[in-house]
Amino acid sequence: MSKSYVSMATCPICQEPNGTILMDKRIKNSMEQYTKTLDPCDKCEEKYLKDGIMLIGKESENSKEVKGIAVIKRKVWSKVFNLPTPNKKQKFIFCDIKILEHLKAN
Ligand SMILES: [Zn+2]
Repeated sequence: MSKSYVSMATCPICQEPNGTILMDKRIKNSMEQYTKTLDPCDKCEEKYLKDGIMLIGKESENSKEVKGIAVIKRKVWSKVFNLPTPNKKQKFIFCDIKILEHLKAN
């Protein structure tokens, strides 16, 4: 597929297009057909984030590349992290990829 100045944003959870169209501001053919974003599609939002929180794992704080994603249900949050559950508005939390690896190992 050749590059274009428009791209379809994809959901970080299911990798399907989330309905957002991205455009290169300078109308340069710089983008792939699909671009990974951190905006979940409506289906995943409903399925996972209604009562869950998405953890976005990165190699370092300044790194833009997402290394992994996990969704934690609000009702188990305090058991998993031994921390109060974040408020309802908080749907994403950036964290170190090591935390996700640790969660998967358990
Ligand atoms: Zn999705």
